[in-house]
Amino acid sequence: MTGIGGAVVTAPFVFFYRTVETLAASVPVTVERLTKPHEAWRELVSPEAFDVLFNEQTEPPGSSTLSQEYRDGTYLCAACYLPLFESRHKYDSGTGWPSFTQPIAGHIGTKKDYQLIILRTEYHCARCGGHQGHVFNDGPLPRKERWCNNGLALKFVPSMESLPPLRS
Ligand SMILES: [Zn+2]
Repeated sequence: MTGIGGAVVTAPFVFFYRTVETLAASVPVTVERLTKPHEAWRELVSPEAFDVLFNEQTEPPGSSTLSQEYRDGTYLCAACYLPLFESRHKYDSGTGWPSFTQPIAGHIGTKKDYQLIILRTEYHCARCGGHQGHVFNDGPLPRKERWCNNGLALKFVPSMESLPPLRS
């Protein structure tokens, strides 16, 4: 599996290739970046999650049960457990990937991504650097942001459970 391969050229979001300057992405990072080498996370996550988090692979659309998860709770980075999204900002984008209108401010970093030739905005956990997904500007009002996330890169914790401690 290389990127989203051929799937992306038929997906509706192929038209949204402009650089996305999101509100959330302009918020300064508020967490300290870990210096742990990416390879060292391999023993803490599944091989599939590692490929997404640290090789920037993309899971097939519709493959994650989290795209249909709508309980109240928090979505953590699957590697270091930093909270990245809250359930109140999740919505059904119809893409087959868990989608959010905004992340937890200060907990994500972004970079320009030319992997598919067209320019996209990649985002990742600001603490461990684990790749999460891409942000597009075709989301719902008022922010119009669509944070398109790999389910494999997230860990969902329902609100009745306490959050696990951060992993380093
Ligand atoms: Zn992380």
